[in-house]
Amino acid sequence: MIFMSAQKTYTIRCPQCGHEQKVELYESINVAQQPELKTALFENRLNRVQCKSCEASFRVDKPLLYHDADRNILIHWMPDTAVSREEILDEFDKSMEELRKVLPADIEPPRVRLVFTRAELVELIFIIEAGMEERVVEYIKYTIHTQNMKRLPPAGKQLLLNIQDSTADELLFAVQDVATSGLEDLLRYPRTAYRGVCDMYRKKPDEFMELFPGPYISARAALMEESGSEEE
Ligand SMILES: [Zn+2]
Repeated sequence: MIFMSAQKTYTIRCPQCGHEQKVELYESINVAQQPELKTALFENRLNRVQCKSCEASFRVDKPLLYHDADRNILIHWMPDTAVSREEILDEFDKSMEELRKVLPADIEPPRVRLVFTRAELVELIFIIEAGMEERVVEYIKYTIHTQNMKRLPPAGKQLLLNIQDSTADELLFAVQDVATSGLEDLLRYPRTAYRGVCDMYRKKPDEFMELFPGPYISARAALMEESGSEEE
C-alpha cells in the first residue's frame, strides 16, 4: 500500500501582519520515496511559509500523514489546536475503519500511530528507526513520572526521548514544559534498566498493550486518564 506525498492549498493568515495568502502545504509525505521531506520535517522546514507582505517565516501545523513504506508504518500527526483530543480520537477511529475496508486481505496492514505535536512525531520516528519498542519507552516515562510526581507532574511536563544524544550506556530524556513547549531539563536512564524493561515486555506484552492500547501511545496520557484530569 502506497500513500503518495500530496499537497493541499490553504489560505493562511500571517501571524505577524495579518496578510492572507494561498499556500501549498503537505498533507501526506512518503519518506521512502522522498526522504528529503523527512529531512525537511527534522529541520523544521516542512510546511513553513514566508509571508509575501512582511517576509515573516512561520510554520503552519495541519494534519499530516507520515508514511514509511520500508518500515510499514503510518503516523498521523493531528495538531490539537482547533479541536479537542477526544474529537480527534473519535475521528481517527472512523478513518481507521475506512482504511481496514479498503485494504486488500493479503497485505499486512501498516502499524498506525497517532501523535499530537511535531516533537512527538520526530521522537517516534527516531524510536522506530532505532529499532526500539515504543511501549517500552513510554513505560519507562511512566515510571519516571510516577517516581517524581512533584517535579514531573504529567499535567504540566512531558518527557521526550532524545536518541541522538543518548549514549551506549544511558538514554537521555528531555523534560518539556507542556504550556510553553520549552525544554527545561535532561534526565539520564541506564540502558541496562531499559533492557530489563524490554525483557518484561517480551514476557508479558499484554500488560503493556493494556496500559498503552494505542493508537496514541503516551505515558502522560495514560497517567492523566488514571488521575481523571482532562487534557487542556
Ligand atoms: Zn506578514
